[in-house]
Amino acid sequence: MNGIQGKRWTEQTAGAVIGSAVGDALGAPFEFGPAGAFSARFPASGAAEEMCGGGGWDPGEATDDTQMAVLVAESLLEREGLDLPDIFRRFQRWASGAPKDIGLQTEEVLTNGGSWETAAARHFQVSQRAAGNGSLMRAATSAVYFARDGQRATMDAARAIAALTHGDPAAWEGTALFHELVRVTLEGGDPLAALPEILTLVHPDHRPRYATVLAPDWHPDRATEFNGAVWPCLGSAVWALRTTASFEEALRAAVDLGGDTDTVAAVTGGLAGAYYGLDVIPTRWTTRLHVPLPGFGDRVLELPQLLGLVHRLAA
Ligand SMILES: [Mg+2]
Repeated sequence: MNGIQGKRWTEQTAGAVIGSAVGDALGAPFEFGPAGAFSARFPASGAAEEMCGGGGWDPGEATDDTQMAVLVAESLLEREGLDLPDIFRRFQRWASGAPKDIGLQTEEVLTNGGSWETAAARHFQVSQRAAGNGSLMRAATSAVYFARDGQRATMDAARAIAALTHGDPAAWEGTALFHELVRVTLEGGDPLAALPEILTLVHPDHRPRYATVLAPDWHPDRATEFNGAVWPCLGSAVWALRTTASFEEALRAAVDLGGDTDTVAAVTGGLAGAYYGLDVIPTRWTTRLHVPLPGFGDRVLELPQLLGLVHRLAA
């Protein structure tokens, strides 16, 4: 890899991971709020206080989305590859550390006493509802790590990690779509132009529904579920990337959708960060960024530690 490609790869892989974390922290104070709340509070972009905190979150504090993404990253690095039981154990340890927020479904799966192989499936069998966005939200680090292994490998890894907490294959396919969109972007491709082809890689049972929410004319207003579900969450993130012209605008659009704002913005930030690169992520958003890791002592990762993590993931 030559110097220019290497620099671009570093910028864009860091953009994906830091972009997702920034979206998570930016959106967290607006979770379950109405549409337009962010713009109402910050009408012009560039206000120093945008990373405002609230709703139990400190300014710049990342939520479960990024916390779980860091857990996945540390497992991939320490186990030198995909070790699903190890990721599951880390998730359980984290869940037992009383995180400020944890998805309902994720909590049930991590605490129902099932093994890493059976817990999520057991939950899905009973509930029949397991297509939350909780596996999609944490996928930025694994998307970066597996991008170099190619299309099949990164999509299969996404499905396997998603299945640890989500028994519904719809969640696996949404997470696999995200991994592949990030891979295409990091390889220098246009993720939006690649979408029709990427959709052919989705399991046929789930393809029509993703084709709907990822279509160029789809708008989040047309969602048939709350954006805490995997389909409108991914659709909204792609919509935010498609209909804006900068990282900042994409994230403002995502948070302004209301609802599950931290996760929609985390997914948007992952895609937009990979696309635009770390350089354009505002420093007023990254300086206060921090990721506590409940269950793992008093560890709190700040920007330098997150960058260290992503450099090792992308190496
Ligand atoms: Mg969250």
